[in-house]
Amino acid sequence: MRLVLLGAPGSGKGTQATRLKDALAVPHISTGDLLRAAVAAGTPLGVQAKAVMDRGELVSDDIVLGMLEERLTAGDTGNGFILDGYPRNLVQARALDELLARLQQPVDIAVLLDVDVELLIERLAGRAQAEGRSDDTPETVRNRLRVYTEQTAPVIDFYENGNRLARIDGVGEVEDITGRVLAVVQDAPAA
Ligand code: AMP
Repeated sequence: MRLVLLGAPGSGKGTQATRLKDALAVPHISTGDLLRAAVAAGTPLGVQAKAVMDRGELVSDDIVLGMLEERLTAGDTGNGFILDGYPRNLVQARALDELLARLQQPVDIAVLLDVDVELLIERLAGRAQAEGRSDDTPETVRNRLRVYTEQTAPVIDFYENGNRLARIDGVGEVEDITGRVLAVVQDAPAA
């Protein structure tokens, strides 16, 4: 199963992806995690990315696509994958389709975790306290939500127009939401 998980910052993509990877027996690939690993390792790419991430903006499309291609060709995606945090704009959505066509691993379904913006702000404030992520400060959170609305929300239409989108109510108990995602994933025709 090749799944793209869509949703605003704080919509629960990371939490759900962790649960879904076990249920579906596929790797969870998060571009945010790949970038944070590069930051932690202090690679030149990581140093460059950190400033952008701390402002809540998007790291350059080329850098992220390069990292993603490396990850998708690591040899463990034969059963599929869950992609979390990518694509973040239309350029990335098109680049992903091209890359996956080349790898003969097209996306089966994109699942949107739908969460009201007021609740997102509440959740992100809670996460800032719990995890101390440097991009969860109030100003960065506002910026990340703005970037989402302006750049990432059009990606929802991209998958909807291609009849590859399922919308899931992202509010409720974590396990109920996982159940909702699994129900639509199991019904999705293979690409
Ligand atoms: P996330 O963990 O997915 O919320 O990502 C954290 C931060 O990493 C984002 O706010 C961006 O600065 C950066 N990032 C993650 N994924 C991407 C992407 N696909 N394109 C550009 N920047 C990204």
